[in-house]
Amino acid sequence: TPSPLTVLGTGAMGTALARAWLAAGHAVTVWNRTPSRAEPLAADGAVIAPSAADAVSANRLVVVCLLDDPSVGAALDGADLTGRDLVNLTTGTPGDARSRADWATARGARFLDGGIMAVPPMIGHPDSGAYVFYSGSAELFDEHRTALATVAGTEYVGTDPGLAALHDVALLSAMNGMFAGLLHAFALLRGTDVAPRDLAPRLVSWLGAMAPAAHATAERLESGDYTKNVLSSVGMQAAGVPAFLRTAQEQGVSPELLLPYLDLLRRRAADGHGEEDTAGMVELLVRQNPHP
Ligand code: NDP
Repeated sequence: TPSPLTVLGTGAMGTALARAWLAAGHAVTVWNRTPSRAEPLAADGAVIAPSAADAVSANRLVVVCLLDDPSVGAALDGADLTGRDLVNLTTGTPGDARSRADWATARGARFLDGGIMAVPPMIGHPDSGAYVFYSGSAELFDEHRTALATVAGTEYVGTDPGLAALHDVALLSAMNGMFAGLLHAFALLRGTDVAPRDLAPRLVSWLGAMAPAAHATAERLESGDYTKNVLSSVGMQAAGVPAFLRTAQEQGVSPELLLPYLDLLRRRAADGHGEEDTAGMVELLVRQNPHP
């Protein structure tokens, strides 16, 4: 039978998680700072706890999905975590996760951090592609894997509790770059006869075709060889920078979303790496290695 569990935080995401566990037959105890926001879950069968401490004492498995790391500290202050399995799905930094892991362990709990790669409507629908990066206690993960897999796919990335947040932020950072590029592309065609809806499918297929470049970049970063079989060299791309900037100017579009990347490209070329692949530009970004 599905194991009982507690969900702290019934915002948009916590509510979606609690609903998915309830639908799968788990007994779920919920708590929310503002009680009215938890009440709708009672109709789905959830037990509403009067305090976070009560919710924590109700079940061994305690899932936390609050706004940010300080709210986790605020909510759990005064709760007895002895013997609890704490799964923190609150977005934070790798450093937040490591400190929170130490904090929870010192209070007698096992700790697993998670980074949710989904929006609330995807939760509980395995075919949506929703998944969660997990890191921290492998024992906790193994023991509760089935329950965790009920709400979204699971990707355990290591015992360092910071790794889930790091993966989460890395993927979202790449996505930010994509969104920046999309905005710039739409801005360029604004005021022309080309409707945004006509540009959209071309952007989708182009970005889809380019995305696998991540594999080639990974290979180069692992081998440290930026010079073999270079197809689009730094030098060639740096030579194209004026075309990007002048096109923006001709169209009356600010280059501000492109400039940081184009500046880096020119700097790499000026540093004598013109013959290389752009993978080597990672060297310009990395200031210090946190794990020597
Ligand atoms: P909401 O804003 O909908 O909910 C925030 C929750 O945090 C509420 O339960 C709120 O309680 C609680 N909260 C805020 N501050 C405190 C505090 N000081 N003490 C106690 N509780 C507090 O956010 P979501 O549910 O959307 O997000 C929750 C987490 O999930 C975030 O870390 C978010 O980054 C992450 N996430 C969300 C995604 C999304 O698309 N929504 C996607 C991936 C991750 P109250 O009702 O009392 O204000």
